Amino acid sequence: MKKTWFITGASSGLGKIMTAKLLARGDQVIATARRTEALQDLLNAHADRLHVVLLDLLDTARIRATVDHAFERFGRIDVIVSNAGYGLFGASEQLDDEQIERLLATNLIGSIQLIRASLPHLRAQGGGRIVQVSSEGGQIAYPGFSLYHASKWGIEGYVEAVAQEVATFGIDFIIAEPGPTQTNFAAALDLTPPSGCYQDTPVGKVYHLIANGEFEIRGDAANTVDAIIDAADSSHPPLR
Ligand code: NDP
Repeated sequence: MKKTWFITGASSGLGKIMTAKLLARGDQVIATARRTEALQDLLNAHADRLHVVLLDLLDTARIRATVDHAFERFGRIDVIVSNAGYGLFGASEQLDDEQIERLLATNLIGSIQLIRASLPHLRAQGGGRIVQVSSEGGQIAYPGFSLYHASKWGIEGYVEAVAQEVATFGIDFIIAEPGPTQTNFAAALDLTPPSGCYQDTPVGKVYHLIANGEFEIRGDAANTVDAIIDAADSSHPPLR
C-alpha cells in the first residue's frame, strides 16, 4: 500500500535520496527543507506526489505549525523521518557558544520538537512510525566530535524513553545509525586538527584520518537509504 512520508533535511544527502526513492515507488512525500530549490528536479517529475515545504529546524514554532498543517492537509502521515542534521569537528574547549547552541538546536532540539509535534497527530490517527536518523556516533565517541556525539547520544536517549511512553498508542520508532556515508555531511566538516589542548592526545583513528585530509567514507548513501526504508516498511521493526 502506498504511504505518506514527512521528511526533514530533504534538500541533500540521505534525505534527498530517500525522497527520490519513495517517489519512484509511488509514495507521497512531504519534503521539508531550507533550500527548497534543491528539490526542483524532483518536483518537476513528481508534482502530484511531492509537496515541498520550507522548514528550518532552528525555527521551533515553525516546526509545529508545519507538522500541524501537513496532517491537516494530508489526513494521514505514515512515517515521520527526522533526518536533518550536521556535524561539527573541534576540540571541546575551542568550540564557541554559537557553534554549541546551533548544533544542539538543530540536531537535538529540532528533532525533539519534530517528534513532540507529531505525537498527538499519530495518536489521533491510531498510530504511526518515526524514523530518527542518528549515527554510529550515537553509540560510540571519537575525540573532536564531542558536540555531535552529545546531540546524537541525546536524541537516542530521548527516543528510547518516548518510544516506551507511546507504544501503547501504536506509535513506534526506528533509530538509524549510519557510519560515515558519502553525502554533503563530510564536505561541510572543517577537519582542521584541533591545536593546543589536544597536542598530547594519542593519535587515534580520527586523527589519522584528519592528518590524511580525509574522512573515511564507508557507507554508500543509496544503500544506507534502502536499509532505512526497509526498516520503516517492516511490520515489526527493531528500534535500531
Ligand atoms: P547532508 O549534509 O547531505 O544533508 C543534511 C541535511 O540536513 C540537509 O538537507 C540540510 O539542509 C539539513 N539541515 C541542516 N541544518 C538544518 C536546519 N537548521 N533546518 C533544516 N534542515 C537542516 O548530510 P547527510 O544526508 O549525511 O545527513 C543526514 C543525517 O544523517 C544527519 O542527521 C546526519 O547527522 C546523519 N548522518 C550522516 C552521516 C554521514 O556520514 N553522511 C553519518 C551518520 C549520520 P541544507 O541543504 O539547507 O543545508
